[in-house]
Amino acid sequence: MNFILWESFMDCLENPEGTKNYINYYSVLTLWLRNNKHYFSEALFKKNRLDILTNLNPNIYVIEDPGFPIASELQRFERNKPKNLEVFAMILGNRLWDMVTIRGKACPNCEGDEMRYLLAEELAKKNKKIILECNSCGWTENIDGTSWEQADKVVILPVSKNEIEKLLIS
Ligand SMILES: [Zn+2]
Repeated sequence: MNFILWESFMDCLENPEGTKNYINYYSVLTLWLRNNKHYFSEALFKKNRLDILTNLNPNIYVIEDPGFPIASELQRFERNKPKNLEVFAMILGNRLWDMVTIRGKACPNCEGDEMRYLLAEELAKKNKKIILECNSCGWTENIDGTSWEQADKVVILPVSKNEIEKLLIS
């Protein structure tokens, strides 16, 4: 793990404003990632969905309770310095994903995780639909519980807070 890169990341976390709330925290992490993108390969960014995550508006996407205590984030990173960039990108991707994805029912495939609501946009058909995906094993299904087959070109985004409210009310 590049020392200068790690120091610059830790400097950014040391500002208490950055971990005051989840929206600030999301902004701090994604701003840092955008500024340091050249250290990571494009493939690594894509694999961990950092290309999508660094372009979401935190005011629209960050959820109220991502399920981890924000106050201990600095300590957590101090104690667990990632051993390389691959691991670091994975940790950041998972953290950001936790902050913007709403959890649904438990995964029927691995039973190890709750699935997240996502918006799948089929580019050819210009068709958007809400699906559920397990972050642990990659299982995907439709809202009615049938398995979801990925079409050729699909863009997958988290479902925003507004979209999920519409879904839960209807
Ligand atoms: Zn699963």
